[in-house]
Amino acid sequence: MSHTRAYAAQSAESGLAPYTFERRSLRDDDVAIEIDYCGVCHSDLHVVEDDWGGSQYPVVPGHEIIGRVTAVGPGVTAYKSGDLVGVGCMVDSCRTCSACDSGLEQYCDEGMTPTYGGVDRQDGSITMGGYSDNIVVRERFVVRVPEKLDPASAAPILCAGITTYSPLKHFKVGQGHKVGVLGMGGLGHMGVKFAKALGAEVTLFTRSESKVAEAKKQGADHVVVSTDRNQMKAVSNTFDFLLDTIPVAHDLNPYLKCLNHDGTHILVGLLSAIEPPVNAGLLLLKRRVIAGSLIGGMPETQEVLDFCAEHDISCDVEMLDIRDINDAYVRMKKGDVKYRFVIDMRTLKEG
Ligand code: NDP
Repeated sequence: MSHTRAYAAQSAESGLAPYTFERRSLRDDDVAIEIDYCGVCHSDLHVVEDDWGGSQYPVVPGHEIIGRVTAVGPGVTAYKSGDLVGVGCMVDSCRTCSACDSGLEQYCDEGMTPTYGGVDRQDGSITMGGYSDNIVVRERFVVRVPEKLDPASAAPILCAGITTYSPLKHFKVGQGHKVGVLGMGGLGHMGVKFAKALGAEVTLFTRSESKVAEAKKQGADHVVVSTDRNQMKAVSNTFDFLLDTIPVAHDLNPYLKCLNHDGTHILVGLLSAIEPPVNAGLLLLKRRVIAGSLIGGMPETQEVLDFCAEHDISCDVEMLDIRDINDAYVRMKKGDVKYRFVIDMRTLKEG
């Protein structure tokens, strides 16, 4: 067992505060990692504040983890002490169903085990995430981080990156496609970069006038301020794909009108009911599709890290002292982060 320093929420209202617990001893196929950096995802906030229901406290969030291997179990073959590695949103799955067999562990028939707030499949303990100084993870759920990548700005690739890369690859987005990305936060800014790198013509939809110039710096060809009806109308029947990262219920109907015939609206941000209701006429009259996508499997998570190294893609990050985590959540709720907070875990050791 290893003594672990962390930050945890004790209830939906408590905010995050220092917390200590014991990580399990290494199993045969486990990798122990000293955490250097952990990204702050909007999902962390959803779980801490129990937005989706069922959060199990204490919650130690964090699923954009980068660190160095400190020890491996006797059955581990791919990693050794000193390797730069990452852990994303899952730490286990059944590993035998057809989804797992296809490297789509996130769609495991039995449900994947999330990095935090899940139930360990062997000992029944609650999984604790990356707002901590170390983690122990089954080898299959560890990825290698190319040394070419800056480790701090690579951390969000483990969630924000893979969540936007995976649907773009699945739907074969490329040259000749017009892609709209909805919302420019952690996921959205990566969606813009990936859609552009895959050859698409990219438009960012944002509520924030202040993000117009920045979106172009991120690679967007065009920007639509979504609160401006005229700007929305001007792009009616235009897009092949919309990648929707908005984290709360919002009216899909005005966006569906922006899709061309056979266009697909891909939801990645919303994990609850669509409200207000969708007008089915908008789907039928142009054979439009609404789809959803969840993170990405382990092979694809490795692929996106390698893709980022090859294409010089990194996340725009604001480095965070973990003692400021509660203020960071307030700013994230306002959409006021450029574009991902990443905790420097040295600040945990200092505090
Ligand atoms: P961020 O808070 O970083 O960004 C969300 C962006 O959405 C904001 O910057 C803002 O962009 C826009 N936005 C926020 N509130 C509203 C609103 N009320 N109406 C319209 N637009 C809004 O969040 P993340 O990118 O970290 O996460 C986005 C969502 O994706 C979260 O719900 C998260 O849980 C989910 N998620 C899903 C995953 C999956 O596998 N499908 C994996 C990881 C996260 P702007 O200012 O440009 O309008």
